[in-house]
Amino acid sequence: MFKINENYLKLPGSYLFSTIAKKVNAYTAANPDKKIIRLGIGDVTLPLAPAVIDALHGAVDEMGKKETFRGYAPDLGYEFLRSAIAEHDYRARGVEIAIDEIFISDGAKSDSGNIGDIFATDNRIAVCDPVYPVYVDTNAMAGRTGDYIAAEERWSNVIYMPCTEENGFAPQLPDEEPDIIYLCFPNNPTGSTVTKPELQKWVDYANRIGAVIIYDAAYEAYISEENIPHSIYECDGAKTCAIEMRSFSKNAGFTGVRLGFTVIPKALRAGDVQLNSLWARRHGTKFNGAPYIVQRAGEAVYSEEGQRQTKEMVAFYMNNAKVIREGLAAAGYSVSGGVNAPYIWLKTPEGMTSWQFFDYLLETVNVVGTPGSGFGPSGEGYFRLTAFGTYENTLEAIERIKKL
Ligand SMILES: *Cc1c(COP(=O)(O)O)cnc(C)c1O
Repeated sequence: MFKINENYLKLPGSYLFSTIAKKVNAYTAANPDKKIIRLGIGDVTLPLAPAVIDALHGAVDEMGKKETFRGYAPDLGYEFLRSAIAEHDYRARGVEIAIDEIFISDGAKSDSGNIGDIFATDNRIAVCDPVYPVYVDTNAMAGRTGDYIAAEERWSNVIYMPCTEENGFAPQLPDEEPDIIYLCFPNNPTGSTVTKPELQKWVDYANRIGAVIIYDAAYEAYISEENIPHSIYECDGAKTCAIEMRSFSKNAGFTGVRLGFTVIPKALRAGDVQLNSLWARRHGTKFNGAPYIVQRAGEAVYSEEGQRQTKEMVAFYMNNAKVIREGLAAAGYSVSGGVNAPYIWLKTPEGMTSWQFFDYLLETVNVVGTPGSGFGPSGEGYFRLTAFGTYENTLEAIERIKKL
C-alpha cells in the first residue's frame, strides 16, 4: 500500500490570506455602501510594458511559422536571455557571472522551494522572523524542520532570526550554527535592506562555518539608496557560499507571465562537488524550460525601452510607497521600509495586536492591510501595507488613516 509524505501533515494551515478575505467579505456583506481600499496585495497591478508586449507578440508570430517555430527550450534557458542577465544584472555592477552559472526558471517561488532538492535532509536551516513562508514550508515538506510547535508558532529544528525594531529589522548572526541560511533583501514583508558591509558579514560568516546562503533578491529593482547591494556577489567571497535568486515578477510585472532565474557559481562546492552541476542535473531532469515566448519577453526587459518602461513602473509604485511612509509618519506612526522596497512595515498603535489593528482599520476607515503576525511570531505588533495599489486609492487610504 502506498504511503504519503507525512511531513505534509505537520504543516500548519495557512490561514493568513483566506482569513483576510473572509473578514473583508463579511464586512462588505454587512456594509455594501462602504468603499474598501486594499493595500494588502503582494501582487503588481500595472500592465506589462509596451516593449515586453511587442516581444511577446513577435515571439508568438515566430511560433506560428514553420521556419521559426521552436520546441523544447534548452534546459537551462536560452543563451540570449542568459547573456542579457550576465551583462545587465552582473557585469554592469562589476560582477562576472558566466552564462552557465545562470539557470532560467518560471520564477523565484519555485526556485526557492525546489533548491532544497540538492541538499541533505539533515541540514539545519536559519530563517528571518518574520519571513516569506515558502522557505520554511518547503523545508518542512522535505522533513528538514522537525516538528511544529503550535503554541510557539515555530518548528523545533529551525533557527529563527528575529527581525524587529530593536535590530532595525536586520537579522543578527545566530547563536546556533546553521547549514543553510535564507536571506531576502530588500525584504518581504518588512521592506528592510542591509548595507554592503552588513551583507559582507553574512558572507564571511557562511564561508567560515561552511554554510550556504540562499539569497532572494526578488525586490532588487526597488533599491533606491546608494550603499545597498543589488547582488550578494558584490560581496567578496560570495561565490563560494551563496546562491542568488531573482524574478521578473516585481521589476517587470511578470507575476502572471512567470519568469525568474537562479545563479549558482561554479566555485560553490561541497568538498569537490559543484552545487552548479547538481542543480543543472535537477533542472534538466525535473524542468523542461521556461517558454520561448516568455524568455523573449524577459530579454525585452533589458532593452533600452524595456529598461526605461519598467523603471517607470517601479517608480510609480515607489511613489505610492512614499505617500504611505510619509503620510503615516506624519500621523505619528512608527514606520519602516518603503525606501528600497514596495512594502511599508508599521508598528501597530497602542499595543494592539496585528489582527486587532487589521479589524480596526477595516471597520473604521475601510482599509485592508496584512497583519504582521501572519509572517511569523516576531511580526506580532506589526502591519504590512503595500505600494501596489493605484495612486488615487493609496492617497485616499492614507488620508483616511490620518483622520483616525
Ligand atoms: C514575489 C516574491 C518572489 C517572486 O516570486 P515569483 O515566483 O518569481 O513570482 C520571490 N520572493 C519573494 C520574497 C517575493 O515576495
